[in-house]
Formats: sequence, C-alpha cells, structure tokens
Amino acid sequence: MKYPIITNFINGENITGGNNLLDVYNPQTGEIISKVPLSNSLSVDSAVAAAKEAFPGWSNLPIKERVQVFYKYKQLLERHKDELAALVSEENGKTISESEAEVLKSVEVTEFACSLPQLTFGEILEVSNGVECRSEFSPLGVVACITPFNFPNMVPNWTLPNALVMGNTMVLKPSEQVPLSAMRLAELLKEAGLPDGVFNIVHGAQEVVESICDHPDIQAVSFVGSTRVAKIVYKRSTANLKRALALGGAKNHLIVLPDANVEMTASNVAVSMSGCAGQRCMAASAMVAVGDVDHIIEKLCEEARNIIPGKNLGSVISAEAKLRIENYINEAEAQGAKILVDGRGAIVDGCEEGYYVGPTIIDNVTPDMKIAREEVFGPVISILRVSTLDEAIKIENSSNYGNAAAVFTQSGGLARYVAEHASAGMIGVNIGVPVPREPFAFGGWNESRFGTGDITGKSSIEFWTKQKKITTKWNPEAKSNWMS
Ligand code: NAD
Repeated sequence: MKYPIITNFINGENITGGNNLLDVYNPQTGEIISKVPLSNSLSVDSAVAAAKEAFPGWSNLPIKERVQVFYKYKQLLERHKDELAALVSEENGKTISESEAEVLKSVEVTEFACSLPQLTFGEILEVSNGVECRSEFSPLGVVACITPFNFPNMVPNWTLPNALVMGNTMVLKPSEQVPLSAMRLAELLKEAGLPDGVFNIVHGAQEVVESICDHPDIQAVSFVGSTRVAKIVYKRSTANLKRALALGGAKNHLIVLPDANVEMTASNVAVSMSGCAGQRCMAASAMVAVGDVDHIIEKLCEEARNIIPGKNLGSVISAEAKLRIENYINEAEAQGAKILVDGRGAIVDGCEEGYYVGPTIIDNVTPDMKIAREEVFGPVISILRVSTLDEAIKIENSSNYGNAAAVFTQSGGLARYVAEHASAGMIGVNIGVPVPREPFAFGGWNESRFGTGDITGKSSIEFWTKQKKITTKWNPEAKSNWMS
C-alpha cells in the first residue's frame, strides 16, 4: 500500500478511527493505495467535543485575525498545487489538468473567504431619537460538512473557509472513496496556523453521517452528494432542528439550436459531457437537439473521438460505477437508441485494471427512457430530438433535478427565452459548464438542492451565521417615543 492506514483528525492530532477498514483505490489502475476507517459515533462524539472546546477561543478572535489563517492557507494551496492535484488524480481518477483546475477553484473560494471582513461589518441606524440599532453576524458554533467523491479537494473548500472565517468550528466527513485529499487540507490548515480543534475530520460512511445529523452539539449541516442521500440528510438534520443545506444530483440539459456556432458548440458539449469523466454535477447529460442540427452532432462526434481514455480522459471512480454506466448504455441501445460513439469496454494500455469508460454519444433517445431521466454520472450524452424550442424547454422542465441548463445559439432573444424558462439554478449561454465564478454563488434548484440559499458566495454568509440586533440608548435626556 502506498499510503499508511488513514486516521481521523481530531483536535489537531491523528487519531485511529478503529479497525473497521475499507480499501481506498487508485481508480486509474485498480490498485489499493490505502485503507480508510469506517468510524463509529464515538469518533463523531470526540470530534464534536474538540470542536466545541475550540469554539469560544476561535469565535472570540476578531474576524480580521481569523482571516489571516486563510491568507496563509490560500498561499499554501497555491504553493502545493501540483502535489494536491496529483493526490486528487490518484484517489479520484480525473486527469492532472482537471485536478489542477479543482485546486484553483479551492484557491478562488478561499480568496472569497478572505474578503468576508469587507462583507460582514453589519449595519447601524439611528432608529429613534437617541436610539441606535445595529446588526452583527454571530457564528453558529460547531457545524458539519459531508462531501462526495467527485471533488475531493474543492467541495470541502466550498464550505470550510467561509464557515471558519465566520467563527464556526467544524467536523468534516469526506467521501470514504477519496479520504486522502481532506487529510492533506487538514495539514495545510494546521501549517497556516489554524488552532487545534477548529477543524476536525471523521472518516466513515452511513453511521458517521447519521451521528452527525443526530448530534445535539452540531448546529448546522451542509451536504453535497446524490439526491437520494441529500434527502435523507436534509430530513434527518432538520428533524433534529438543525440548519441544513443539502446539494443533490443533477441531470443537465443542453439545448442546441440550428443557428449555433458549430465549433464552439461541439467543443463545449464534448468537454461538458466528458470532463472529469462526466462525474460532475454540472456535466451535460442530455442534449436537446432542436430541428436540424446534424452538422453540429457530426462535429460533436468528431470531437468525442479525440477524447481518449488514459490520455485526455480520466477514469470513473470504481468498478461498480463503470458497470452502472455501461448498463445505462446497454439498456438505451436495447430500447432502440442509436450509439454514435461507443465508450463501452475501454481499456488503457498499462492500466488494464483501471475503471475507464470512453466518451459515449447516444442518438434517438426518447424522454421516457431511463437514460433520459436519471443521472448517469459518466462520460455519456443522450441526444433527444425535438422540432421546437418550447418542446425542448418542456423536456428540460420535466426533470426532477435543476442544477444547470444551457443553450447554444447566436440569437440573444432565444438565449434569453431559455434563461427565463429553464428550471435550473445555473444557466449557460454558449457555455457547457456554467459554474458561476466567485463571488457569484453555486447552487441548483428543485431536487438538486434542499434548503435555502447557495453553498458558496454571499448567501453562504447567512447559512453559517445568525444575526444579532443590538438596540442602544445612552442619553437619559433623549426624548422618548412609543418605541424607545
Ligand atoms: P453519495 O450521495 O453517494 O455520497 C455523498 C456522501 O454521503 C458521502 O460522504 C457518503 O459517505 C455519504 N453517504 C452515502 N450513502 C449514505 C447513506 N445511505 N446515509 C448517509 N450517508 C451516506 O454521493 P457520491 O457518489 O459521493 O457523489 C456523487 C453525487 O454527488 C452525484 O449525484 C453528484 O451529482 C452529486 N454532487 C452534487 C453537487 C452539487 O453541487 N449539487 C456537487 C458534487 C456532487
């Protein structure tokens, strides 16, 4: 094994998570690279106790002092970018350049966190004669984050810089499939000067998540993962009277109109469906072709044939994921869909045991097919043919998800029509992966997000804090009225 058995990280120390261990794979090679503990509720109790003890000291520091740690952390992320990217690639399977982009997004969200003192100085107003009212943001206390496998470095960073700068202390439960990156982040936070106990990691699966949802000393839970688990976490946390924000899965539609720029559309759709091996909640999963766009589909197929597993396409996360994705393709084919580019059975020389699926383009998919409705989470796109833009919007609107949608056209009017009528939180116009850059916030609609507000940007300030309103009068001479 390349790495030793992973431990939990509690109160600044590496603490064993017990003997119930799960193998951690390099999905590009199929090799076991480490083992991760499936901890129990006692580990959650210890981590929460450490976070609770650290809370008074950390939250009482002025925000301008807390933020200093994150200036250093940002520099450390930048300094260690190559090493962090290599680790992401090793445990997740994505390519090095995709992993670098992930680390750069972590840098960007940390930059936003460094701007929080400028965004959170509250408000003050004389509300009555000699009476002033001011508001301030107070941290919640101990908070928890539960993260998925697909962005081992970035998704923990969606929450931890903002939550911690605002004065909270945290327990992170990373995906058990990619536990290594989170441990490296903990080391960098310590090196940046974060006091022990402010950030803790408990590894594990369902039992740890349930203990987090139930723990009386955890005030808020953020979750990113599949819709199935997002619903469980949201319901269980809020039933325990916690604040919760749970981001779920996606089925993103790209609407392609006949006037779209051929090169730009084909390359954007190809990158969107295959980037990170299609394992992005922003990945294009369905292309709704309006009218005659065969010339664009032809070019898309050409682009896809240049996306080569093991070269510019990483692996999927596991053998189970490969099987699940290939089964979706098999089923669509059996139901009469036409496979234009077939990525099944991909083998990479020298990595024969790796979990690769090549880019796959499936034409003549109909809205009733499973592949048209469900999240596939692989480098696969279904083409649904329609005659009008309204039919395309109807298909997009019928999805239970609502993370992203995009339109490809040269008409400003039609692009605006789609932006207005698509039922999704993030819309792209001639952009296949419309991730809003900071300071704009990330968050979907419908069953892609449970709870209010977005996970990054300004709206995260509200999620990680509660507001206090302080009304003050000092002058005994001040004339009283009905409210003072
Ligand atoms: P997942 O839901 O299987 O796992 C997410 C987390 O939940 C992990 O930490 C896991 O240990 C835990 N978990 C799994 N099963 C559980 C259960 N029964 N009870 C309690 N906890 C459980 O998701 P994943 O496979 O790791 O990630 C892929 C999914 O995440 C996709 O659906 C993708 O769309 C979604 N995702 C969404 C966003 C977004 O912003 N909306 C971002 C990234 C990923």
